[in-house]
Amino acid sequence: MEHKLSPQTLCVQGGWQPKNGESRVLPIYQSTTFKYDTTEQMARLFDLEEAGFFYTRLQNPTTEAVAAKIAALEGGVGAVLTSSGQAAVFFAICNICEAGSHIVASSAIYGGTFNLLGVTLKKHGIDCTFVDPDAPAEEIAAAFRDNTRLLFGETIANPGMNVLDIEKFASVAHAHGVPLIVDNTFATPINCRPIEWGADIVVHSTTKYMDGHALVVGGAIIDSGNFDWDAHADKYPGLTTPDESYHGLVYTKKFGKLAYVTKATAQLMRDLGSTPSPFNSFLLNIGLETLHLRMRQHCSNAQAVAEYLNAHPKVAWVRYCGLKGDKYHQLAEKYLPNGSCGVLSFGVKGSREDAGRLMDSFRFISIVTHVADARTCVLHPASHTHRQLSDAQLIEAGVAPDLIRLSVGIEDPADIIADLEQALARL
Ligand code: PLP
Repeated sequence: MEHKLSPQTLCVQGGWQPKNGESRVLPIYQSTTFKYDTTEQMARLFDLEEAGFFYTRLQNPTTEAVAAKIAALEGGVGAVLTSSGQAAVFFAICNICEAGSHIVASSAIYGGTFNLLGVTLKKHGIDCTFVDPDAPAEEIAAAFRDNTRLLFGETIANPGMNVLDIEKFASVAHAHGVPLIVDNTFATPINCRPIEWGADIVVHSTTKYMDGHALVVGGAIIDSGNFDWDAHADKYPGLTTPDESYHGLVYTKKFGKLAYVTKATAQLMRDLGSTPSPFNSFLLNIGLETLHLRMRQHCSNAQAVAEYLNAHPKVAWVRYCGLKGDKYHQLAEKYLPNGSCGVLSFGVKGSREDAGRLMDSFRFISIVTHVADARTCVLHPASHTHRQLSDAQLIEAGVAPDLIRLSVGIEDPADIIADLEQALARL
């Protein structure tokens, strides 16, 4: 039996496989288009009769190699890269939904996704019911309707830090004949591979740990190839009935397990764009080469910082699933046995203003609208992303007024703790 490479090795070696005499490093194919000798050959590409590159809005060799690496890391059959994480979530849904469809989603998800599902998709006729991810399976099942087409959740929710019971979500989705889509941005495939727990499709904001250096905004959609679209053909006509824009081709018949990713590329990328630039894919690939090393450091630093904050008299509460007393510790032991991520949230004793004062006292911990890169950074939603809301409205939105989101970087943990210490001393 062929030896299967570990995720650690795939980070370094996956994707680009140079042939004899080719560049060792993944080259940047900075070209919009690709040349062919005959009209017949080009026509076959347009009919999806042959695989190949013809226009970078659909596919590009640099981007394709990075997509292959990410697909291998997640244990999927194929992947599509997008120009942002938002685009990845949007495409993953719109590949199998249309006006009149319904979605069930965890309420503990990134604010941008919450708005996309609850507001923007609604305007396009796709309805969403949000459920408490911690609710029993029967309660989540009760949200399903005849027109439900997918279930959605985040492995580790941003910024609530809830850990998803992926097996529970997968069993509810499959009992209703729909796929489970999991956003695995915070955990990364180094710490959790949702497909192994029953997820059918995985999405990422590669902007976060995968890039890891805050260089490029990007996203990825990975298909496990496991969901049987033909067994639920009436629900997914886009995949199981003829696509007239490709001379009546049926994706599931022609591409089998690659039907979903092929449709996303050949149809959604063609019509909606949102492709990453080859240069951005190149930078993302460099980030991926050290993902396994960085995640280990992020997790051990975050654990040390969480324990320090948890014991500090001026800190009211800490949310990090690596802490023994955390609400999600047990789920983390099951799904994230080697660590979760570098992000944690905490509150200081005092008012919303005290949280702001603490943040203004940091020396190198910086205030940015970002998480999950090499540099430690903070955000106070009540002062920034959610500043228009009153304390009561914040609590309703699931964001405590004193919540500080701390994204622990890969610096020396003693220095991170020293910066926290001097800032807390000034409160
Ligand atoms: N999913 C999660 C969990 C995120 O945290 C984010 C952004 O913060 C997104 C998706 C959206 O990704 P992007 O900012 O790359 O569009």
